[in-house]
Amino acid sequence: MFRRMKRVPRQNISTKIKEVKKATKDIINKSRVTESQYKNRLKTCNDCIYLMRSTNMCRVCGCFMKIKAALPSSVCPLGKWSLRDSSVNPTQHDDGCENSD
Ligand code: SF4
Repeated sequence: MFRRMKRVPRQNISTKIKEVKKATKDIINKSRVTESQYKNRLKTCNDCIYLMRSTNMCRVCGCFMKIKAALPSSVCPLGKWSLRDSSVNPTQHDDGCENSD
């Protein structure tokens, strides 16, 4: 039997633009979350029905999670993880967050 996919929630375009601006600042400033925060975020995404596992992309926001999860200003569009679990770590992520699949 086929498992029906839940309808994908839409993200407001102005919210999306604001998030992209914040993410760009994080990338320029080389701001990253800590290793444990990064792993916790990825674990949450891996358990989420909206993650496309083949590309590691979120169906709700359209972002590549290996990159988005490393940025302190990033938030899950469904509130599963947020700024509250973040702190800025100015060093480059060991995990190679720039090496998206
Ligand atoms: S960002 Fe949120 S909605 Fe998207 S895959 Fe991760 S947990 Fe799911």
